[in-house]
Amino acid sequence: MQLVLPWISPKRLVTGVEKAPASIEVGPHSYPVTIARHRRARRYVLRMTPDGALRITVPRGASVAGGLAFATGQGAWIAREHARRVLRNGAWSDGGLVWFRGQRVRVELAETTIAVGSQALPRPRGASNPPEAFEAALRTVANTELPARCVELAQRHGLTVSRVTIRNQRSRWGSCSSRGAVALNWRLIQMPPEVSDYVILHELMHLKQPNHSRQFWREVAAVCEGWRAAEQWLRAHGRELL
Ligand SMILES: [Zn+2]
Repeated sequence: MQLVLPWISPKRLVTGVEKAPASIEVGPHSYPVTIARHRRARRYVLRMTPDGALRITVPRGASVAGGLAFATGQGAWIAREHARRVLRNGAWSDGGLVWFRGQRVRVELAETTIAVGSQALPRPRGASNPPEAFEAALRTVANTELPARCVELAQRHGLTVSRVTIRNQRSRWGSCSSRGAVALNWRLIQMPPEVSDYVILHELMHLKQPNHSRQFWREVAAVCEGWRAAEQWLRAHGRELL
C-alpha cells in the first residue's frame, strides 16, 4: 500500500543539510527510513516496505528534510499500516487464521499436507517457511480454479477470453485487456465465491465497456445481481487480503 502525499512547492520546504535520520518514531515503535530520490517524482510518496521499514520518495528540487516532515506528519497512517502488517504476518503463521473461500479458517502445516480449515491441500515443495507454504498452496488452488471459472462465466455470457493469467498483484483484483486477456489476483480464492465471481464478471464486462461508465455498471448489474454487496465486501475486507 502506498500513500501519495500532496505536492508542495519546494520553496516552502526546509532546506539545508539533507541528512536522513535512521528512523521515525510513531507511538512505541521505531521505523527505519530510507530515502529514494526520483527525478521524475512530482510529489512525496510514503511507503511501508514488506519488512516494515518506511521509504520516502523525494521529488526533484525538494529536500529530504521536507520529506521527513511529511512522513512524520503521517503518524496515523504509519500506525495503521503497521497494525495491518502485524495482523497479516500473524495470520499466515502456523495455526493462524486466513481468509479462504470467504471464511476465516485456521492454517496448519503437516508433514506432507497443509490444512486450510477442513480442507487438506498438498504441501508445496520448496517453500522455506510457513507463510510461503500457505501462500503457495492457496495459489495452486487459484491456478486450478480461477481460469476455468473465468472461461465458464465468459461462455455463459457469450464472451470470448483469449487468455487468463493468475497474478500476485498488490493493488488490484483483476484486469482485462481489449484483446480479451484477463488477469486475476490469486487472492480471489480467499473471497466468498460470489465476490470472486463478481470480480471476474466485472473484468469480463470491460470487454463490452472498457471504462466505468453508467453503461458499464448496467452491464455488470445485468449479469451480477449482487454486485453492490460484493463491492461492499471488498471495501470491508479487501485490505485484509492484500
Ligand atoms: Zn473495472
